[in-house]
Amino acid sequence: MVITEAEPLRPYTTFKIGGPARYFAPAASLEEFREVLAHAGKRSLPLFVLGGGSNILVSDSGFEGVVAHPICRGIEILHQDSEAVILHVNAAETWDDLAQFAVERNWWGIENLSHIPGQAGAALVQNIGAYGQQVCDVVQTAQVMEIATGALQVLNAADCGFDYRRSIFNSTAREEYIILGFTLLLTKHGRPQLDYPDVRDYFRERGTKQPSLAEIRQAIISVRDRKCPFPREERNGNAGSFFKNLSLVEAEYAGLCEVIGRNFSPRELARLEETRRRFPSSDRIKIPTAFLLEICGLKGHRIGGAQVNESQPLVLVNTGGATAEDVTALARHVRRTVHQRTGMTIDIEPELVGFSSQELKYLYSLE
Ligand SMILES: Cc1cc2nc3c(=O)[nH]c(=O)nc-3n(C[C@H](O)[C@H](O)[C@H](O)COP(=O)(O)OP(=O)(O)OC[C@H]3O[C@@H](n4cnc5c(N)ncnc54)[C@H](O)[C@@H]3O)c2cc1C
Repeated sequence: MVITEAEPLRPYTTFKIGGPARYFAPAASLEEFREVLAHAGKRSLPLFVLGGGSNILVSDSGFEGVVAHPICRGIEILHQDSEAVILHVNAAETWDDLAQFAVERNWWGIENLSHIPGQAGAALVQNIGAYGQQVCDVVQTAQVMEIATGALQVLNAADCGFDYRRSIFNSTAREEYIILGFTLLLTKHGRPQLDYPDVRDYFRERGTKQPSLAEIRQAIISVRDRKCPFPREERNGNAGSFFKNLSLVEAEYAGLCEVIGRNFSPRELARLEETRRRFPSSDRIKIPTAFLLEICGLKGHRIGGAQVNESQPLVLVNTGGATAEDVTALARHVRRTVHQRTGMTIDIEPELVGFSSQELKYLYSLE
């Protein structure tokens, strides 16, 4: 295994932003991961696991530690019968290749998660979700290595503590495990989940009543491409949604209605109520943060090379040459504006890597 020094992280991120890693270690086997842990331990340096770099913002000064980068791909069929199939997937497999693999074989469960960038292992970290599906709906077990000891463990889905954009891997056990692989269960006789307005409209326009899995995957790809620039090129660098959606209890929703009624026109209040009806949710009320950014006039707002995307304002885009400082200054402005005008505090979704505690305090301050 080759461990490089001062490796620029920018090319490994979809934002195309960020300084170097002190050490960078691509790892394929258990032995190599243990070697990386020993390398970090010997030097008392922190360890960061880098997947496809699509949910991180790396600071301009880089990461003063060891970056472990899983490189072992692979999908294996462990079991199948007439109803279902159980797969084992290595962490470095590309998530969207897995989604395509399943759709091509007519296996249901992750079709609405098509075209989400990144590695499959990382999908568990924030429990990726889109258009009514989440990866936690199909995960059975996760095979992990404990960072402190190098010991292997198998966690079942309940141990992973999955919730909206959350698992133990980005909360209670943050930086404690390397996910090496996982198993998932897909079904052979599923039902299309077309609750989301954009996806429903896509099929309504085409007069499709019972879409196939391939048609659903195509619909998701079209809807996503229309809304959010897939970060293929330098100019469209981004990390997907930079802000999380809101999930409110009834009293919080009533408070939001009151503030919107006071600070905005009746039209905006009517749109909020319509938004509530359009987005299906169970016990809590889901409010798209994009709506708040839009009514606060933040669409297209720009600081340096960073801009709030026009068509999907949850996405902050590197329009070319943006620095991490530009992005964090823009994120701070967005959070403060939304808080001042709507009373809502919005959370940041991507992991911020290599920032000092002072930089983070400044970013998160609402004063
Ligand atoms: C255009 C675009 C659209 C997106 N759309 C969506 C969407 O619809 N829904 C959604 O949920 N997300 C979305 N995302 C966010 C992102 O794609 C997902 O969160 C993805 O799972 C991140 O994978 P990654 O390999 O790039 O992880 P990275 O960005 O490399 O890492 C993210 C976090 O996971 C940790 N991590 C990565 N691999 C491992 C591992 N093997 N073991 C332990 N920890 C690990 C990292 O340390 C870091 O904390 C989008 C991003 C982009 C750029």
